[in-house]
Amino acid sequence: MISDGLQGLLSERQVDSPVARVVRALSGHGAVSAAQIARTTGLARSTVSTILGDLKRSSLVVEVETRSPGIGRPALAHSLNPEAGTCLGVLLGRNEVRIVLADVAHNVIADVAIPLERDYRPDKATRTVKQAIDNIYKEHSLPFSGLLGVGFAVSGPIAANGRIMRGSLLPGWYGVDLRSTFEPVLQKPIFADNESNCAALAEMMWGAATGVEDFVLFKLDLAIGGAIVANGKVLTGIAGTAGEFGHMLLDPHGDLCTCGNRGCLQLYCSGATVLSVAERRLARAITLADFVKTAQAGDIGFQRLLEDAGEAAGRGLAAVGTIINPGLFVISGGMAAAGEMLLAPMRSSYAKYTLVKPGDIEGPVPQFVTGRFLDNDNCMGAVGLVLRHHGRLS
Ligand SMILES: [Zn+2]
Repeated sequence: MISDGLQGLLSERQVDSPVARVVRALSGHGAVSAAQIARTTGLARSTVSTILGDLKRSSLVVEVETRSPGIGRPALAHSLNPEAGTCLGVLLGRNEVRIVLADVAHNVIADVAIPLERDYRPDKATRTVKQAIDNIYKEHSLPFSGLLGVGFAVSGPIAANGRIMRGSLLPGWYGVDLRSTFEPVLQKPIFADNESNCAALAEMMWGAATGVEDFVLFKLDLAIGGAIVANGKVLTGIAGTAGEFGHMLLDPHGDLCTCGNRGCLQLYCSGATVLSVAERRLARAITLADFVKTAQAGDIGFQRLLEDAGEAAGRGLAAVGTIINPGLFVISGGMAAAGEMLLAPMRSSYAKYTLVKPGDIEGPVPQFVTGRFLDNDNCMGAVGLVLRHHGRLS
Protein backbone atom coordinates (compact mmCIF):
# COMPACT_ATOMS: atom_id res chain seq x y z
CA MET A 1 0.00 0.00 0.00
CA ILE A 2 1.34 3.45 -0.93
CA SER A 3 0.60 4.96 2.50
CA ASP A 4 2.78 2.33 4.24
CA GLY A 5 5.77 3.44 2.16
CA LEU A 6 5.13 7.08 2.97
CA GLN A 7 4.73 6.46 6.70
CA GLY A 8 8.06 4.60 6.71
CA LEU A 9 9.83 7.44 4.91
CA LEU A 10 8.37 10.06 7.26
CA SER A 11 9.31 8.12 10.39
CA GLU A 12 12.03 9.39 12.70
CA ARG A 13 14.28 6.42 11.84
CA GLN A 14 14.80 7.62 8.27
CA VAL A 15 14.96 11.33 8.87
CA ASP A 16 18.48 11.86 7.53
CA SER A 17 18.38 9.65 4.43
CA PRO A 18 18.35 11.55 1.10
CA VAL A 19 15.04 10.01 0.01
CA ALA A 20 13.39 10.94 3.33
CA ARG A 21 14.67 14.50 2.97
CA VAL A 22 13.07 14.75 -0.48
CA VAL A 23 9.80 13.30 0.84
CA ARG A 24 9.77 15.75 3.75
CA ALA A 25 10.41 18.68 1.41
CA LEU A 26 7.40 17.59 -0.68
CA SER A 27 5.27 17.00 2.39
CA GLY A 28 6.11 20.42 3.79
CA HIS A 29 5.82 22.48 0.63
CA GLY A 30 3.18 20.82 -1.57
CA ALA A 31 3.88 21.12 -5.31
CA VAL A 32 7.52 22.12 -5.85
CA SER A 33 10.09 21.95 -8.65
CA ALA A 34 13.15 19.71 -8.55
CA ALA A 35 15.31 22.86 -8.25
CA GLN A 36 13.35 24.00 -5.17
CA ILE A 37 13.73 20.55 -3.61
CA ALA A 38 17.49 20.70 -4.23
CA ARG A 39 17.64 24.13 -2.53
CA THR A 40 15.49 23.03 0.43
CA THR A 41 17.33 19.76 1.07
CA GLY A 42 20.86 20.78 0.11
CA LEU A 43 21.07 17.68 -2.12
CA ALA A 44 22.65 17.76 -5.59
CA ARG A 45 20.17 18.32 -8.41
CA SER A 46 21.14 14.99 -10.02
CA THR A 47 20.50 13.14 -6.73
CA VAL A 48 17.07 14.81 -6.44
CA SER A 49 16.20 13.80 -10.04
CA THR A 50 17.16 10.17 -9.41
CA ILE A 51 15.15 10.05 -6.17
CA LEU A 52 12.11 11.69 -7.79
CA GLY A 53 12.28 9.10 -10.60
CA ASP A 54 12.26 6.23 -8.08
CA LEU A 55 9.43 7.83 -6.07
CA LYS A 56 7.34 8.28 -9.23
CA ARG A 57 7.84 4.64 -10.19
CA SER A 58 6.58 3.58 -6.75
CA SER A 59 3.58 5.96 -7.12
CA LEU A 60 4.53 8.02 -4.06
CA VAL A 61 5.14 11.12 -6.17
CA VAL A 62 3.21 12.56 -9.11
CA GLU A 63 3.98 15.30 -11.61
CA VAL A 64 1.74 18.37 -11.52
CA GLU A 65 1.61 21.60 -13.49
CA THR A 66 1.84 24.90 -11.67
CA ARG A 67 1.20 28.30 -13.19
CA SER A 68 2.36 31.63 -11.81
CA PRO A 69 -0.25 34.39 -12.12
CA GLY A 70 0.03 36.23 -15.43
CA ILE A 71 2.95 34.21 -16.75
CA GLY A 72 2.49 32.08 -19.85
CA ARG A 73 3.37 28.42 -19.83
CA PRO A 74 2.75 26.14 -16.87
CA ALA A 75 5.83 24.83 -15.07
CA LEU A 76 6.41 21.21 -14.13
CA ALA A 77 6.43 20.45 -10.43
CA HIS A 78 6.25 17.41 -8.20
CA SER A 79 3.97 16.62 -5.32
CA LEU A 80 3.25 13.65 -3.11
CA ASN A 81 0.52 11.45 -4.56
CA PRO A 82 -2.73 12.71 -2.96
CA GLU A 83 -3.70 9.06 -2.47
CA ALA A 84 -0.55 8.37 -0.44
CA GLY A 85 -1.93 9.61 2.85
CA THR A 86 -4.04 12.04 4.85
CA CYS A 87 -3.50 14.39 7.80
CA LEU A 88 -5.86 15.86 10.35
CA GLY A 89 -5.79 19.25 12.02
CA VAL A 90 -7.85 19.69 15.18
CA LEU A 91 -8.60 22.99 16.90
CA LEU A 92 -9.41 22.67 20.60
CA GLY A 93 -11.38 25.91 20.76
CA ARG A 94 -13.09 27.53 23.72
CA ASN A 95 -16.50 26.08 22.94
CA GLU A 96 -15.98 23.95 19.87
CA VAL A 97 -13.77 21.34 18.28
CA ARG A 98 -12.98 21.96 14.62
CA ILE A 99 -11.41 19.36 12.36
CA VAL A 100 -9.81 19.78 8.92
CA LEU A 101 -8.88 16.74 6.83
CA ALA A 102 -6.33 17.18 4.03
CA ASP A 103 -4.34 14.88 1.78
CA VAL A 104 -0.53 14.92 1.59
CA ALA A 105 -0.68 16.99 -1.62
CA HIS A 106 -2.14 19.83 0.53
CA ASN A 107 -5.75 19.52 -0.72
CA VAL A 108 -8.43 20.15 1.92
CA ILE A 109 -11.04 17.38 1.87
CA ALA A 110 -13.27 18.23 4.84
CA ASP A 111 -13.74 20.99 7.40
CA VAL A 112 -16.12 20.21 10.26
CA ALA A 113 -16.98 22.19 13.41
CA ILE A 114 -18.60 20.54 16.43
CA PRO A 115 -19.99 22.85 19.11
CA LEU A 116 -19.30 21.88 22.74
CA GLU A 117 -20.31 23.37 26.04
CA ARG A 118 -17.90 26.00 27.43
CA ASP A 119 -15.10 24.52 29.57
CA TYR A 120 -15.51 20.99 28.19
CA ARG A 121 -13.12 18.44 29.65
CA PRO A 122 -10.41 16.28 27.98
CA ASP A 123 -12.43 13.03 28.16
CA LYS A 124 -15.32 14.72 26.36
CA ALA A 125 -12.91 16.08 23.73
CA THR A 126 -11.30 12.69 23.04
CA ARG A 127 -14.70 11.01 22.54
CA THR A 128 -15.93 13.85 20.32
CA VAL A 129 -12.76 13.97 18.19
CA LYS A 130 -12.65 10.18 17.73
CA GLN A 131 -16.30 9.99 16.72
CA ALA A 132 -15.98 12.92 14.32
CA ILE A 133 -12.85 11.47 12.69
CA ASP A 134 -14.54 8.08 12.22
CA ASN A 135 -17.50 9.83 10.59
CA ILE A 136 -15.31 11.94 8.28
CA TYR A 137 -13.29 8.94 7.03
CA LYS A 138 -16.46 6.93 6.50
CA GLU A 139 -18.22 9.76 4.67
CA HIS A 140 -15.28 10.26 2.29
CA SER A 141 -14.58 6.50 1.93
CA LEU A 142 -10.96 6.97 3.00
CA PRO A 143 -8.86 4.36 4.80
CA PHE A 144 -8.02 5.33 8.38
CA SER A 145 -4.73 3.46 7.86
CA GLY A 146 -3.60 6.27 5.54
CA LEU A 147 -3.76 8.85 8.36
CA LEU A 148 -0.21 10.03 8.99
CA GLY A 149 -0.80 12.04 12.13
CA VAL A 150 -3.07 14.43 13.98
CA GLY A 151 -2.08 18.03 14.67
CA PHE A 152 -3.66 19.98 17.52
CA ALA A 153 -4.00 23.76 17.68
CA VAL A 154 -4.53 24.91 21.25
CA SER A 155 -5.63 28.33 22.48
CA GLY A 156 -2.69 28.83 24.80
CA PRO A 157 0.94 27.94 25.37
CA ILE A 158 2.09 24.32 25.24
CA ALA A 159 5.33 23.05 26.74
CA ALA A 160 7.67 20.93 24.60
CA ASN A 161 6.51 17.80 26.45
CA GLY A 162 2.93 18.44 25.28
CA ARG A 163 1.51 19.75 28.55
CA ILE A 164 -0.90 22.67 28.35
CA MET A 165 0.40 25.57 30.39
CA ARG A 166 -1.27 28.26 32.45
CA GLY A 167 -2.90 31.02 30.41
CA SER A 168 -4.76 28.74 28.03
CA LEU A 169 -8.31 29.62 26.99
CA LEU A 170 -9.18 26.14 28.31
CA PRO A 171 -8.58 26.71 32.03
CA GLY A 172 -9.68 23.19 32.98
CA TRP A 173 -6.89 21.78 30.78
CA TYR A 174 -3.97 23.26 32.73
CA GLY A 175 -1.30 20.55 33.05
CA VAL A 176 -3.06 18.13 30.67
CA ASP A 177 -0.65 16.05 28.56
CA LEU A 178 -2.00 16.13 24.99
CA ARG A 179 -0.08 13.08 23.85
CA SER A 180 -1.21 10.74 26.61
CA THR A 181 -4.75 12.11 26.24
CA PHE A 182 -5.15 11.55 22.50
CA GLU A 183 -2.55 9.01 21.37
CA PRO A 184 -4.14 5.95 23.05
CA VAL A 185 -7.50 6.79 21.45
CA LEU A 186 -6.30 7.81 18.00
CA GLN A 187 -3.31 5.44 17.76
CA LYS A 188 -1.46 7.90 15.50
CA PRO A 189 1.47 10.33 15.95
CA ILE A 190 0.33 13.48 17.75
CA PHE A 191 1.60 16.99 16.98
CA ALA A 192 0.69 20.20 18.78
CA ASP A 193 1.38 23.91 19.02
CA ASN A 194 -0.48 27.01 20.11
CA GLU A 195 -3.03 28.37 17.67
CA SER A 196 -1.05 31.46 16.65
CA ASN A 197 1.95 29.37 15.65
CA CYS A 198 -0.45 27.16 13.69
CA ALA A 199 -1.90 30.28 12.03
CA ALA A 200 1.61 31.27 10.92
CA LEU A 201 2.16 27.81 9.43
CA ALA A 202 -1.13 28.06 7.51
CA GLU A 203 -0.22 31.46 6.05
CA MET A 204 3.26 30.19 5.16
CA MET A 205 2.00 27.03 3.47
CA TRP A 206 -1.16 28.25 1.73
CA GLY A 207 -1.74 31.92 2.44
CA ALA A 208 -0.38 35.47 2.58
CA ALA A 209 3.19 34.39 3.37
CA THR A 210 3.52 31.61 0.77
CA GLY A 211 7.18 31.29 -0.15
CA VAL A 212 8.29 33.74 2.58
CA GLU A 213 10.81 32.33 5.06
CA ASP A 214 10.93 35.27 7.50
CA PHE A 215 7.84 37.11 8.74
CA VAL A 216 5.74 38.03 11.75
CA LEU A 217 2.11 37.01 12.19
CA PHE A 218 0.03 39.35 14.35
CA LYS A 219 -3.38 38.02 15.26
CA LEU A 220 -5.98 40.53 16.40
CA ASP A 221 -8.97 38.61 17.58
CA LEU A 222 -10.84 38.77 20.91
CA ALA A 223 -7.39 38.18 22.39
CA ILE A 224 -4.07 38.88 20.69
CA GLY A 225 -1.70 36.22 19.46
CA GLY A 226 1.32 36.15 17.24
CA ALA A 227 4.18 34.16 15.83
CA ILE A 228 7.69 34.76 14.58
CA VAL A 229 8.90 32.77 11.57
CA ALA A 230 12.65 32.71 10.91
CA ASN A 231 14.30 30.68 8.15
CA GLY A 232 10.98 28.95 7.49
CA LYS A 233 10.61 27.75 11.11
CA VAL A 234 8.13 28.96 13.70
CA LEU A 235 9.96 30.00 16.86
CA THR A 236 8.47 28.49 19.99
CA GLY A 237 10.81 29.52 22.80
CA ILE A 238 11.47 27.38 25.88
CA ALA A 239 7.93 27.76 27.21
CA GLY A 240 6.03 27.96 23.92
CA THR A 241 5.30 31.65 24.37
CA ALA A 242 7.47 33.20 21.63
CA GLY A 243 5.42 35.77 19.70
CA GLU A 244 2.87 36.47 22.46
CA PHE A 245 2.81 40.12 21.42
CA GLY A 246 -0.42 40.82 23.32
CA HIS A 247 1.49 40.81 26.58
CA MET A 248 4.21 43.25 25.59
CA LEU A 249 4.39 46.10 28.07
CA LEU A 250 3.10 49.40 26.74
CA ASP A 251 2.47 51.23 30.05
CA PRO A 252 3.77 50.06 33.46
CA HIS A 253 1.07 52.18 35.12
CA GLY A 254 -1.72 50.89 32.88
CA ASP A 255 -4.68 48.74 33.85
CA LEU A 256 -4.26 45.19 35.07
CA CYS A 257 -4.07 42.52 32.38
CA THR A 258 -5.41 38.96 32.67
CA CYS A 259 -1.76 37.81 32.83
CA GLY A 260 -1.19 39.72 36.08
CA ASN A 261 0.99 42.45 34.58
CA ARG A 262 -0.08 46.01 33.88
CA GLY A 263 -0.48 47.90 30.63
CA CYS A 264 -0.06 44.98 28.19
CA LEU A 265 -0.63 45.72 24.48
CA GLN A 266 -3.84 43.71 24.39
CA LEU A 267 -5.52 46.13 26.79
CA TYR A 268 -5.30 48.78 24.06
CA CYS A 269 -6.22 46.96 20.88
CA SER A 270 -7.65 43.46 21.36
CA GLY A 271 -11.11 42.64 20.05
CA ALA A 272 -12.33 42.20 23.64
CA THR A 273 -11.20 45.74 24.52
CA VAL A 274 -12.75 47.25 21.41
CA LEU A 275 -16.00 45.35 21.91
CA SER A 276 -16.30 46.46 25.54
CA VAL A 277 -16.38 50.10 24.35
CA ALA A 278 -18.70 49.31 21.43
CA GLU A 279 -21.09 47.41 23.68
CA ARG A 280 -21.25 50.27 26.19
CA ARG A 281 -22.33 52.55 23.38
CA LEU A 282 -24.87 50.10 21.98
CA ALA A 283 -26.05 48.92 25.42
CA ARG A 284 -26.11 45.36 24.05
CA ALA A 285 -23.69 42.57 23.12
CA ILE A 286 -22.17 42.47 19.62
CA THR A 287 -19.86 39.98 17.91
CA LEU A 288 -16.48 40.98 16.51
CA ALA A 289 -17.68 40.17 12.98
CA ASP A 290 -20.74 42.41 13.36
CA PHE A 291 -18.61 45.17 14.88
CA VAL A 292 -16.35 45.13 11.80
CA LYS A 293 -19.32 45.04 9.41
CA THR A 294 -20.94 48.02 11.16
CA ALA A 295 -17.69 50.00 10.89
CA GLN A 296 -17.41 49.12 7.20
CA ALA A 297 -21.03 50.21 6.69
CA GLY A 298 -20.01 53.73 7.77
CA ASP A 299 -20.33 53.94 11.57
CA ILE A 300 -17.76 56.64 12.33
CA GLY A 301 -17.57 55.78 16.04
CA PHE A 302 -16.66 52.19 15.28
CA GLN A 303 -14.26 53.33 12.58
CA ARG A 304 -12.53 55.45 15.20
CA LEU A 305 -12.23 52.44 17.51
CA LEU A 306 -10.58 50.47 14.69
CA GLU A 307 -8.24 53.38 13.95
CA ASP A 308 -7.24 53.62 17.64
CA ALA A 309 -6.69 49.86 17.79
CA GLY A 310 -4.55 49.96 14.62
CA GLU A 311 -2.52 52.82 16.05
CA ALA A 312 -1.86 50.98 19.33
CA ALA A 313 -1.02 47.75 17.51
CA GLY A 314 1.42 49.64 15.27
CA ARG A 315 3.20 50.97 18.37
CA GLY A 316 3.61 47.43 19.69
CA LEU A 317 4.74 46.12 16.32
CA ALA A 318 7.23 48.99 16.06
CA ALA A 319 9.05 47.45 19.02
CA VAL A 320 8.98 44.08 17.25
CA GLY A 321 10.31 45.78 14.12
CA THR A 322 13.12 47.41 16.05
CA ILE A 323 14.15 44.05 17.48
CA ILE A 324 13.87 41.70 14.50
CA ASN A 325 13.24 44.00 11.49
CA PRO A 326 11.01 41.62 9.47
CA GLY A 327 10.01 42.32 5.88
CA LEU A 328 6.43 41.12 6.24
CA PHE A 329 3.70 41.43 8.87
CA VAL A 330 0.66 39.22 8.24
CA ILE A 331 -2.30 40.66 10.18
CA SER A 332 -4.78 37.94 11.06
CA GLY A 333 -7.79 37.33 13.33
CA GLY A 334 -11.36 38.65 13.25
CA MET A 335 -10.39 42.33 13.37
CA ALA A 336 -8.20 41.95 10.27
CA ALA A 337 -11.43 41.59 8.25
CA ALA A 338 -11.62 45.42 8.53
CA GLY A 339 -8.72 45.58 6.04
CA GLU A 340 -7.24 49.03 5.40
CA MET A 341 -9.42 50.64 8.09
CA LEU A 342 -7.17 48.81 10.56
CA LEU A 343 -3.97 48.40 8.53
CA ALA A 344 -3.50 52.05 7.43
CA PRO A 345 -3.21 53.49 10.98
CA MET A 346 -1.09 50.47 11.94
CA ARG A 347 1.41 51.20 9.14
CA SER A 348 1.72 54.88 10.00
CA SER A 349 2.09 54.23 13.72
CA TYR A 350 4.71 51.55 12.99
CA ALA A 351 6.64 54.02 10.82
CA LYS A 352 6.49 56.62 13.59
CA TYR A 353 7.82 54.44 16.40
CA THR A 354 10.18 51.88 14.89
CA LEU A 355 13.90 52.50 14.62
CA VAL A 356 14.44 52.07 10.89
CA LYS A 357 11.66 54.01 9.17
CA PRO A 358 10.21 52.72 5.92
CA GLY A 359 12.01 54.92 3.38
CA ASP A 360 15.14 55.40 5.52
CA ILE A 361 16.98 52.89 3.44
CA GLU A 362 16.91 52.02 -0.23
CA GLY A 363 15.13 48.79 -0.99
CA PRO A 364 12.12 46.94 0.34
CA VAL A 365 9.97 48.35 3.14
CA PRO A 366 8.05 46.17 5.61
CA GLN A 367 4.75 45.03 4.16
CA PHE A 368 1.54 44.82 6.20
CA VAL A 369 -0.98 42.47 4.60
CA THR A 370 -4.19 40.77 5.69
CA GLY A 371 -3.99 37.03 6.30
CA ARG A 372 -5.79 34.62 3.97
CA PHE A 373 -7.38 32.40 6.62
CA LEU A 374 -9.12 34.74 9.05
CA ASP A 375 -11.68 32.06 9.87
CA ASN A 376 -9.77 28.79 10.20
CA ASP A 377 -6.02 29.51 10.11
CA ASN A 378 -5.46 27.65 13.38
CA CYS A 379 -7.05 24.45 12.09
CA MET A 380 -5.33 24.66 8.69
CA GLY A 381 -2.05 25.19 10.53
CA ALA A 382 -2.74 22.14 12.69
CA VAL A 383 -2.76 20.13 9.44
CA GLY A 384 0.49 21.90 8.61
CA LEU A 385 2.03 20.62 11.86
CA VAL A 386 1.78 17.08 10.51
CA LEU A 387 2.87 17.95 6.96
CA ARG A 388 5.87 19.93 8.20
CA HIS A 389 6.65 17.60 11.09
CA HIS A 390 6.52 20.50 13.54
CA GLY A 391 5.59 20.07 17.19
CA ARG A 392 5.74 16.27 17.29
CA LEU A 393 5.05 15.04 20.81
CA SER A 394 7.24 12.06 21.63
ZN1 LIG B 1 -0.76 40.72 29.87
